[in-house]
Amino acid sequence: MRTVQRTVAAPDELGSGMIGIPAGSDLELDLRLEAVMEGVLVSGSIHGEAVGECVRCLDRVVEPVDATVQELYVYPERAEAAVDSGDDEDEDVRELEGDLVDLEPALRDAVVPALPFRPLCRPDCPGLCPQCGERLADDPDHTHDTIDPRWAALGGLLGPDDEKRES
Ligand SMILES: [Zn+2]
Ligand SMILES: [Zn+2]
Repeated sequence: MRTVQRTVAAPDELGSGMIGIPAGSDLELDLRLEAVMEGVLVSGSIHGEAVGECVRCLDRVVEPVDATVQELYVYPERAEAAVDSGDDEDEDVRELEGDLVDLEPALRDAVVPALPFRPLCRPDCPGLCPQCGERLADDPDHTHDTIDPRWAALGGLLGPDDEKRES
Protein backbone atom coordinates (compact mmCIF):
# COMPACT_ATOMS: atom_id res chain seq x y z
CA MET A 1 0.00 0.00 0.00
CA ARG A 2 1.17 3.49 -0.86
CA THR A 3 -0.09 6.88 0.14
CA VAL A 4 0.15 9.80 -2.21
CA GLN A 5 -0.25 13.43 -1.28
CA ARG A 6 -0.13 15.68 -4.22
CA THR A 7 -1.45 18.97 -5.50
CA VAL A 8 -2.56 18.89 -9.10
CA ALA A 9 -4.05 21.44 -11.47
CA ALA A 10 -7.80 21.07 -11.86
CA PRO A 11 -8.89 19.83 -15.28
CA ASP A 12 -11.27 21.78 -17.52
CA GLU A 13 -14.97 22.02 -16.76
CA LEU A 14 -14.90 20.52 -13.32
CA GLY A 15 -18.33 21.62 -12.23
CA SER A 16 -21.85 22.53 -13.18
CA GLY A 17 -23.07 25.71 -14.86
CA MET A 18 -23.52 27.53 -11.56
CA ILE A 19 -20.34 26.62 -9.76
CA GLY A 20 -17.16 24.72 -10.43
CA ILE A 21 -13.49 24.41 -9.69
CA PRO A 22 -11.66 26.72 -12.09
CA ALA A 23 -9.39 24.91 -14.55
CA GLY A 24 -5.79 25.07 -13.41
CA SER A 25 -6.54 25.86 -9.77
CA ASP A 26 -5.12 23.67 -7.04
CA LEU A 27 -6.66 20.33 -6.20
CA GLU A 28 -5.18 18.66 -3.18
CA LEU A 29 -5.20 14.89 -3.33
CA ASP A 30 -4.69 12.66 -0.36
CA LEU A 31 -4.87 9.15 -1.71
CA ARG A 32 -4.20 5.58 -0.74
CA LEU A 33 -3.18 3.14 -3.43
CA GLU A 34 -3.77 -0.46 -2.47
CA ALA A 35 -2.79 -3.47 -4.50
CA VAL A 36 -5.68 -5.88 -4.63
CA MET A 37 -6.30 -9.05 -6.62
CA GLU A 38 -7.78 -7.38 -9.69
CA GLY A 39 -5.61 -4.28 -9.76
CA VAL A 40 -5.20 -1.16 -7.67
CA LEU A 41 -7.78 0.32 -5.37
CA VAL A 42 -7.50 4.11 -5.17
CA SER A 43 -9.27 5.80 -2.29
CA GLY A 44 -8.93 9.06 -0.44
CA SER A 45 -9.98 12.64 -0.39
CA ILE A 46 -9.89 15.60 -2.73
CA HIS A 47 -9.89 19.18 -1.58
CA GLY A 48 -10.35 22.23 -3.75
CA GLU A 49 -12.07 25.57 -3.98
CA ALA A 50 -15.10 26.08 -6.16
CA VAL A 51 -16.02 29.46 -7.61
CA GLY A 52 -19.47 30.32 -8.83
CA GLU A 53 -22.40 32.71 -8.66
CA CYS A 54 -25.01 33.10 -5.96
CA VAL A 55 -28.33 31.93 -7.43
CA ARG A 56 -30.17 34.82 -5.77
CA CYS A 57 -27.94 37.88 -6.17
CA LEU A 58 -25.33 36.69 -8.72
CA ASP A 59 -22.51 37.65 -6.39
CA ARG A 60 -19.30 35.68 -6.52
CA VAL A 61 -19.34 32.61 -4.32
CA VAL A 62 -16.23 30.77 -3.21
CA GLU A 63 -16.81 27.47 -1.46
CA PRO A 64 -14.38 24.87 -0.21
CA VAL A 65 -15.08 21.47 -1.70
CA ASP A 66 -14.23 18.19 -0.06
CA ALA A 67 -14.96 15.00 -1.89
CA THR A 68 -14.04 11.41 -1.35
CA VAL A 69 -13.03 9.08 -4.09
CA GLN A 70 -12.90 5.31 -4.26
CA GLU A 71 -12.12 3.67 -7.52
CA LEU A 72 -10.82 0.30 -8.57
CA TYR A 73 -8.40 0.30 -11.46
CA VAL A 74 -8.08 -3.20 -12.88
CA TYR A 75 -5.19 -4.74 -14.74
CA PRO A 76 -5.81 -4.70 -18.51
CA GLU A 77 -5.77 -8.53 -18.64
CA ARG A 78 -8.55 -8.62 -16.10
CA ALA A 79 -10.59 -6.03 -17.97
CA GLU A 80 -10.31 -7.99 -21.22
CA ALA A 81 -11.30 -11.18 -19.48
CA ALA A 82 -14.35 -9.43 -18.11
CA VAL A 83 -15.35 -8.16 -21.56
CA ASP A 84 -14.77 -11.63 -23.10
CA SER A 85 -17.02 -13.23 -20.54
CA GLY A 86 -19.75 -10.80 -21.57
CA ASP A 87 -20.20 -9.42 -18.12
CA ASP A 88 -22.11 -6.19 -18.70
CA GLU A 89 -21.40 -4.76 -15.30
CA ASP A 90 -17.70 -4.56 -16.04
CA GLU A 91 -18.06 -2.59 -19.25
CA ASP A 92 -17.13 0.78 -17.80
CA VAL A 93 -14.36 -0.60 -15.68
CA ARG A 94 -11.32 1.63 -15.34
CA GLU A 95 -8.08 0.14 -16.52
CA LEU A 96 -4.57 0.57 -15.31
CA GLU A 97 -2.33 1.97 -17.98
CA GLY A 98 1.05 0.52 -17.21
CA ASP A 99 1.76 1.67 -13.69
CA LEU A 100 -0.29 4.80 -14.09
CA VAL A 101 -3.87 5.49 -13.33
CA ASP A 102 -5.87 8.14 -15.11
CA LEU A 103 -7.48 9.88 -12.18
CA GLU A 104 -9.34 12.57 -14.05
CA PRO A 105 -12.63 10.71 -14.66
CA ALA A 106 -12.69 9.57 -11.04
CA LEU A 107 -12.00 13.12 -9.84
CA ARG A 108 -14.84 14.39 -11.96
CA ASP A 109 -17.25 11.76 -10.66
CA ALA A 110 -16.30 12.57 -7.07
CA VAL A 111 -16.15 16.36 -7.21
CA VAL A 112 -19.16 17.32 -9.35
CA PRO A 113 -21.80 15.78 -6.99
CA ALA A 114 -20.02 17.38 -4.02
CA LEU A 115 -20.62 20.89 -5.37
CA PRO A 116 -23.57 22.87 -4.00
CA PHE A 117 -26.62 22.48 -6.21
CA ARG A 118 -27.81 26.04 -5.54
CA PRO A 119 -24.80 28.11 -4.50
CA LEU A 120 -25.55 31.02 -2.17
CA CYS A 121 -23.24 33.86 -1.10
CA ARG A 122 -24.72 33.40 2.39
CA PRO A 123 -27.57 31.21 3.63
CA ASP A 124 -29.98 34.12 4.10
CA CYS A 125 -29.07 36.05 0.97
CA PRO A 126 -32.08 38.32 0.30
CA GLY A 127 -31.40 38.44 -3.44
CA LEU A 128 -32.09 41.38 -5.71
CA CYS A 129 -34.77 44.07 -5.55
CA PRO A 130 -37.43 43.08 -8.09
CA GLN A 131 -37.85 46.72 -9.09
CA CYS A 132 -34.35 48.07 -9.55
CA GLY A 133 -32.15 44.96 -9.41
CA GLU A 134 -30.05 46.32 -6.59
CA ARG A 135 -28.67 43.86 -4.07
CA LEU A 136 -31.01 43.92 -1.08
CA ALA A 137 -28.13 42.96 1.20
CA ASP A 138 -26.53 46.35 0.47
CA ASP A 139 -29.67 48.38 1.12
CA PRO A 140 -32.42 46.24 2.64
CA ASP A 141 -34.86 49.08 3.44
CA HIS A 142 -34.75 51.10 0.26
CA THR A 143 -38.07 51.91 -1.35
CA HIS A 144 -39.24 53.22 -4.68
CA ASP A 145 -41.40 56.31 -5.16
CA THR A 146 -43.26 54.93 -8.11
CA ILE A 147 -46.78 54.03 -7.08
CA ASP A 148 -48.19 50.74 -8.22
CA PRO A 149 -50.28 51.53 -11.36
CA ARG A 150 -53.38 49.97 -9.78
CA TRP A 151 -53.21 52.42 -6.84
CA ALA A 152 -52.50 55.29 -9.19
CA ALA A 153 -55.79 54.58 -10.97
CA LEU A 154 -57.71 54.57 -7.67
CA GLY A 155 -56.08 57.86 -6.75
CA GLY A 156 -57.64 59.36 -9.89
CA LEU A 157 -61.11 58.13 -8.92
CA LEU A 158 -60.92 59.77 -5.53
CA GLY A 159 -59.67 63.05 -6.93
CA PRO A 160 -61.33 66.51 -7.12
CA ASP A 161 -64.17 65.08 -9.30
CA ASP A 162 -65.75 63.42 -6.27
CA GLU A 163 -65.90 66.67 -4.38
CA LYS A 164 -67.70 68.35 -7.29
CA ARG A 165 -70.32 65.62 -7.35
CA GLU A 166 -71.02 66.05 -3.66
CA SER A 167 -71.47 69.79 -3.79
ZN1 LIG B 1 -26.37 36.20 -2.78
ZN1 LIG C 1 -35.00 48.63 -5.56
